[in-house]
Amino acid sequence: MNTRLNSIDAVVDAHLCTGCGVCAHLRPDALRMQNIDGVGARPLPIVGITSGVAGDALAACPGRSLEHEKVSLEGAPFRGEWGPILDLYECWASDPEVRHRGSSGGVVSALAAHAVTSGAAVGALQVQARKDAPLLNETLLNRSYAEIVSAAGSRYSPASPCERLDLVEAAEGPCVVVGKPCDIAATRAAADRRPELAEKVGLTIGIFCAGTPSTAATADLVRGLGADPADVERLDYRGEGWPGEFRLQTRSGDSHSLSYAESWGSLTKRRQWRCMICPDHTGEFADLSVGDPWYRRTEGQDGRSLVVVRTERGRAALRQAIADGAIEGGQLPLDKLPASQPSLESNRGALWGRLVTLRLARVGRPTYRGLPTFRLWLTLKLGQKLSSFAGTIRRIRVRSLRRPEFDREQR
Ligand SMILES: Cc1cc2nc3c(=O)[nH]c(=O)nc-3n(C[C@H](O)[C@H](O)[C@H](O)COP(=O)(O)OP(=O)(O)OC[C@H]3O[C@@H](n4cnc5c(N)ncnc54)[C@H](O)[C@@H]3O)c2cc1C
Repeated sequence: MNTRLNSIDAVVDAHLCTGCGVCAHLRPDALRMQNIDGVGARPLPIVGITSGVAGDALAACPGRSLEHEKVSLEGAPFRGEWGPILDLYECWASDPEVRHRGSSGGVVSALAAHAVTSGAAVGALQVQARKDAPLLNETLLNRSYAEIVSAAGSRYSPASPCERLDLVEAAEGPCVVVGKPCDIAATRAAADRRPELAEKVGLTIGIFCAGTPSTAATADLVRGLGADPADVERLDYRGEGWPGEFRLQTRSGDSHSLSYAESWGSLTKRRQWRCMICPDHTGEFADLSVGDPWYRRTEGQDGRSLVVVRTERGRAALRQAIADGAIEGGQLPLDKLPASQPSLESNRGALWGRLVTLRLARVGRPTYRGLPTFRLWLTLKLGQKLSSFAGTIRRIRVRSLRRPEFDREQR
């Protein structure tokens, strides 16, 4: 197998695609995103066009490489191990309905909606459940308060917001782009290559992300609750309380639910491989990134979101939203970030061992620059260090990482 990652196909075959869709945006003539059940969203060649797409589409691919410019990490706290950070906040949407509906405190929705209602942006590019097929996601450029807040809630299933960056590029003014860390890194890399896109990306909001499970993982959860995936009318992974439950309603009128811990515990085992070797779980390339303030460890209360301010543009947007009353909350000491996400921190440490193992085994791996991991690896317990090697060797076998992720000819 080609481990040189010199085309989009090679990245996909090496199990390194994140599913963000930026390649399909940059080469709409050659690639389209398709949801491969049990795998994730992947770019497939459009019929009649041969494969081997490289150029800007490959250069912008976050599955292949991630890099912080030195200047963005100057003075970064935690020696850059959590990316650029200017401030940390704990906030919630002032609108109680948005706060209730949001995954954490509804802050992503409130920030995006405020940008539009204040006139700073003309729309927000967002992922949401497809109305006709709620196990799948779609990306829309939402333009009104009602539309934007109706996209609240995490979708723990494949989504490719960057595939629709064309909507941002064609918009009549600046837009907000909401996405996972890989989606935001890809948006930034694409904007670096296309001035017409850069001009329209007004604000980027990243959500923290431990990894994307496949659609098949959700379908199995649904079946486990005794429902038929084809009969699902509405499906929420979280929200309506913090962190909220996995909930579904069927067309036949039944409702089912499962605790957040049980549902995520099952979904997390079916995350795509690239997420397991990702250094950026907290949206390091965004203007603002938002996750859960798990340091509280008290569930069932009104939701709150942890907000990492990463750029001056992000700081201005957050301050304005607070000043205008769209968001409530205040600053936190920076140490509440690692305290909120201990598993993301240990994962980043384990990543050093995983990447070394992949290199020695000559298995395809991404290139990361300016995303340090080694010092965190040193802080791991001996068992964790050993398992960062042994677990990777096992996964090379169990996940068949030396073979293409799926058979493209069958699609
Ligand atoms: C796969 C996944 C894994 C996550 N892992 C973690 C974690 O380990 N730790 C943590 O603290 N938080 C994690 N989150 C983020 C968390 O669930 C919340 O999204 C975040 O805290 C923001 O909450 P909020 O209430 O402020 O946002 P909301 O107001 O609920 O808005 C959420 C926004 O995210 C967008 N969105 C939802 N799903 C996706 C998706 N799949 N791709 C792109 N955009 C999407 C929606 O369009 C919406 O605009 C994860 C989210 C996802 C989707």
